[in-house]
Amino acid sequence: MVPLPSEQSVTLRCQFCDRLNQVEVFGSGYQTPCSNCAKPILLDRPVNVSQDDFDQTVLAASIPVLVDFYADWCGPCKMVAPLVDELAREHSGRMLVVKVDTDQAVSISERYAIRSIPTLVLFKEGEEVDRSVGFEPERVRILAEEAVA
Ligand SMILES: [Zn+2]
Repeated sequence: MVPLPSEQSVTLRCQFCDRLNQVEVFGSGYQTPCSNCAKPILLDRPVNVSQDDFDQTVLAASIPVLVDFYADWCGPCKMVAPLVDELAREHSGRMLVVKVDTDQAVSISERYAIRSIPTLVLFKEGEEVDRSVGFEPERVRILAEEAVA
């Protein structure tokens, strides 16, 4: 079943006031104001997602989600970050890009057996469909293409 565009949405926590918002996804360049503080919720860049929000933000999203499992001390994670930013911008509205800090989100990292970082996992409708482990920019591009195919 393919949902109508107006039914495509993701649940995101406002980076300013922490309110969870149901954000409708209309395509690139669209900014939804937060229902609480009215600041824009931006989809054209990676969004940090905590362990508590992972299931409702990533697994319940009606568009594909590319998850970047990273840590602040990880050099290759920093190397792949500009590519992840670029893909978020390029596929804004069609794919959500999120970052999960593996030092904070320990149970999520265990659930998906993240053994080395960076690991990028593509989710569609709550299921993992593919992943890239280590610094593999070409693989990461392929994941993004699979997401929006
Ligand atoms: Zn807000």
